[in-house]
Amino acid sequence: MTTIEETNAREIRRSATGVPASAPMPAVGRALLATVGGTPLVELTELGGLPAGTRLFAKLETRNPTGSVKDRPVASMLAAAVRDGHVGPGSGRRLLDSSSGNAGIAYAALGPLFGVDVTLVVPGNASRERLERIRAHGAELILTDPLEGYDAARALACSLATDDPERYWYCNQYANDANWRAHHDGTAGELLEQLAELGLGAPDLFVSGVGTGGTLTGVGRRLKAESPNARVGAVVPDLFPGIEGLKPLGAPGDRAPELFDASLVDHRVDVRLEEALPVCSELARSGLFVGPSSGANVYTARRLAHELGAPPIVATLLCDLGERYLSTGMWS
Ligand code: PMP
Repeated sequence: MTTIEETNAREIRRSATGVPASAPMPAVGRALLATVGGTPLVELTELGGLPAGTRLFAKLETRNPTGSVKDRPVASMLAAAVRDGHVGPGSGRRLLDSSSGNAGIAYAALGPLFGVDVTLVVPGNASRERLERIRAHGAELILTDPLEGYDAARALACSLATDDPERYWYCNQYANDANWRAHHDGTAGELLEQLAELGLGAPDLFVSGVGTGGTLTGVGRRLKAESPNARVGAVVPDLFPGIEGLKPLGAPGDRAPELFDASLVDHRVDVRLEEALPVCSELARSGLFVGPSSGANVYTARRLAHELGAPPIVATLLCDLGERYLSTGMWS
């Protein structure tokens, strides 16, 4: 039987970006895009916390070129936007979107590969390492009042594009089909392929948080199509202080993203940051330096595995790098 190390060493199908081989692109861009997706699978079963009979696997999304799961959908959305002539060389328009972090970094870093100028609307309280990284890649930043929350950034991005369609094209990661499709074809396709190489079938349970809902919708849809008994668990963060990158689904005033398919969710688990952080420390001590949403995913996977009576195969994602949270003090 194939081992997980052999599986990870093998070149696996990368279908996430949808960039045609004929697309004009500098060599460095082509090389970098080839590193989007194709992430390793790690087995976390030995770390414990699971009922007997459950194996827990996670895709190591920190291995994408900018260090997060958002490289997949952002590369796909950029490719589609250029293909459809909305942005890119000669269009005269900038790609505009709102983001509080990982997507912004991905747009800023990958936009130049496609010759796309990027403008991001970001709440002014985004961490220094995020804002500096976005600026380093040459993207334009528009900061909104932190007191008005993240929805204000979304609303401003939308109105800027409506008011000045000659200058801006609104990519709208919350409603863009290329977002969930990148996870349907890429993330889920790879997961199924990697598990099959280990002699395993589709996961019985998949756990994910929801930011735009792209991950949960894309992976959930694919897994349920392949295996009707597959269950999907959604990580729902407490309203305050919340978990960076995740939405408190169904909270008063919180708008569900347009692309998010809530009918895929079988189980909702409310998770507090204080529950996710010890799991991040535990993962760090095992060599995996990942952020709070990853800790929340593993916490939720373990909890649901107990509640559901030990499903044999549980899968989740490790979404972004722990470095991205140094200024929050979570590691001190
Ligand atoms: N984890 C982190 C750290 C994120 O930044 C995001 C995206 N905001 C997610 C999870 C959720 O991803 P999605 O947008 O696909 O729902």
